[in-house]
This record gives sequence, C-alpha cells and structure tokens, in this order.
Amino acid sequence: MNNRNVSIRFWGTRGSVPSPGRCKTRYGGNTSCVEVVLPDSRLIILDAGTGIRELGNDLIRRSRKINATILLSHYHWDHIQGLPFFAPAYNRAHTLTVCGCRHAQFPLDKIFSSQMESIHFPVKSSALAADIRFREITPSTDAIDGVGLAVLRANHPGMTFAYALSCDNRKIVYMTDNELLPRSREGLSHISFNRDAFRLFIKGADLLIHDAQYSDREYQAKKGWGHSSWKEAVRLGVESEVKHLILFHHDPDHADRVIDTQVLQCREIIRKSAAPMQCSAAQEGKTVRL
Ligand SMILES: [Zn+2]
Ligand SMILES: [Zn+2]
Repeated sequence: MNNRNVSIRFWGTRGSVPSPGRCKTRYGGNTSCVEVVLPDSRLIILDAGTGIRELGNDLIRRSRKINATILLSHYHWDHIQGLPFFAPAYNRAHTLTVCGCRHAQFPLDKIFSSQMESIHFPVKSSALAADIRFREITPSTDAIDGVGLAVLRANHPGMTFAYALSCDNRKIVYMTDNELLPRSREGLSHISFNRDAFRLFIKGADLLIHDAQYSDREYQAKKGWGHSSWKEAVRLGVESEVKHLILFHHDPDHADRVIDTQVLQCREIIRKSAAPMQCSAAQEGKTVRL
C-alpha cells in the first residue's frame, strides 16, 4: 500500500436504525460510522452510529494511544448511539475530540452525556476516563486537526452538516442524511434548497459518500423525511463531476440483493450519461483508498 494513501473504511453503513440479519451480511447492519486515516496517520471518524463500537475495539488492538477526531453530522440516534459503546472513551490513555454543529438548546457535551443518563444507560458519563474535548463547528469552520474542512448545511430535519475534507489534493465529501429534491419540488424543503450550492460544495470530489436510502417509489411516500433516492444521488454526483460515488445510509429494510440492484441501476444511469464516475455501495468492513 502506498503510504501516501488516504484510507476510508466503513464500519456502519445503515440508516435510521441498526438492522442486522442474514440477508444483510454483505452491506452490514450497523448505523453510520466511517473511519478516515490520513497519510500521516491522523484519524478522523465520521459519525458515531453503532458501527463505532467495532471500530473502537479495532483501534485498541492497533494502538496504545489513540488520538481521534469524531466529526458528527447531526444528533439523530443513528449517528451518535454508538458513542457510549466506544471503548477508547473509557481509557485515560486516549484523546478524543468530538465535533458537531451548535444546537439551539443543548451544548455538545450535554448531547453526548445525556445518552448516558440512567434512564437510557447503566454506566454514568463520569466513567469516561479519556481526555474528551468538545468543539462546536459552524459553517465558517475551515480546518479540523490541521485538515482542510468545508461545511454546508444539509437538507434534513434539524441542523445537519455535510463535510468536505481536503488532504494532499484529495477531496472527500461526507453528505449523509441529505434530501435531494426532484426538480419539481425544489421550492419545498427544510432549508432553502439550492442545488447549485450543493454542486459547488461537492465539485470534483474524489469520493462522495451520499445518502441513497430510497428508490424513487419509496421516496414518494417519504418526502420531507430528509433522505434521497439513489437516482438523485447519482444525478448530483454526475452534475458535480465526482470521481467515485458511494451510496450510503442504506434503508434498514433493504436486503443485500436490493442494494446490489440499486448499484446496477446507478451504473446504468452513469453509463448512459457517459460520465467517468464510479459508483458503489458502502459495505461494512470495506476500505477505499485514494
Ligand atoms: Zn441518519
Ligand atoms: Zn438524521
């Protein structure tokens, strides 16, 4: 492996709720968590769904002193629920910087600790021995742990951020939980939906990890829930000259074979458009190197 690679590994790919099962062994049942390791070994973790539990165990096997930045897109369960199960948080040897958007009512540390109140969890947050720092991100934040960062509000109920990381001339965009509107609905959204702003944000990305929860038909029944059809994700990727689109935030009801079909349909659309874009679906345990 070229040690100048950026490595992106998927530990949780599922949206909304964990959904293990025999028909989901290939794409996985854990909720959102993506590990990004930079060429100098800096570690950025995108979201803390249930996938972060296994990541934590793996990090402990790999390193005696973990220093990680956890970048949260928003605070719905499927993006934070794994944090109390993240073993490095219980060891004073490790340093964690937890970053996320400012919430109107709750400070970030409170959002983190409230999951561990006794009504929800048996262990108190005071048991977290690691050096845990909290940092609120705003749309003007331009770097994190020395890595270039761009921030854009996603089209999703509540404040939700999409992130673009820039490192060694590579651009990785993480845009989960984002509702791309078909053209006919572009005036109706949680924010003033501006496809041009999305295109500009994503433009030329080496990797776009995007919400692709629904088929077009499923989307019709779930408008306004804050998620996209995979065809809209492909459309945005092609328009934004993305090199590799990874379909993410799989619906909990979609078996492996449904996601296989979705990838084939997306590739067919890309082939017809003649765009030089790769497309695959996020698979738990799989690594992409840039
Ligand atoms: Zn989600
Ligand atoms: Zn959400």
